[in-house]
Amino acid sequence: MHVLLLEDDLDLGQAIVTALRQDGCTVLWQRTPTAVEGLDRERIDAVLLDLGLPRIDGMDLLIAWRQSGWAVPVMVVSARGALPERLAGLDEGADDYLPKPFAMAELLSRLRALHRRHLRQASERWRIGSLEIAPRNRLVWVQGAPVELSAREFQLLEALARNPQAVVSKSMLGQRLQPLGEPLEGSVIEVHMSNLRRKIGADRIRTLRGVGYQLVS
Ligand code: CA
Repeated sequence: MHVLLLEDDLDLGQAIVTALRQDGCTVLWQRTPTAVEGLDRERIDAVLLDLGLPRIDGMDLLIAWRQSGWAVPVMVVSARGALPERLAGLDEGADDYLPKPFAMAELLSRLRALHRRHLRQASERWRIGSLEIAPRNRLVWVQGAPVELSAREFQLLEALARNPQAVVSKSMLGQRLQPLGEPLEGSVIEVHMSNLRRKIGADRIRTLRGVGYQLVS
């Protein structure tokens, strides 16, 4: 497993690197998040993410990664251990959240579990009628033919597909697409929705005026 470690604390970072290497991982350790730009994302199997980093908050990094569609498994390792902070981290797309201080054995064990889960999910496919979605890889097929979606279009489709047949309101979609800060405006969602419909087939998404949208099989 190739692990990206973002941790500015010298002693802790060194201890984690040593433990990971003893556990058979290769580690890329960065102490400043700016060094993360330009990394070969494809080569990273998991990220250990400190939140209190110089110049940028780890949470903002996590949000940016998820918005850009990077689905790498992320474990937050942070001194911010209160329940609301842990929940916020998980809701923003962290796959696990380990409060500091922690036992190194638990970090290693959780990381292995995270990796196993990711490998299982990487091969997961959702089938809704003739629509097929690989949520981890963000791939979509319609009647077996691949369809290219933008990050926003995919997020919309994913939000609908998580509850096929359910009606999802526009405000809920707005919050899902912009999890922090101002939710996306309804008119912006309509534009993305219209593009999504054009790509996967207009009749696959039903509009219930004033209520929301529904994925139909
Ligand atoms: Ca720190």
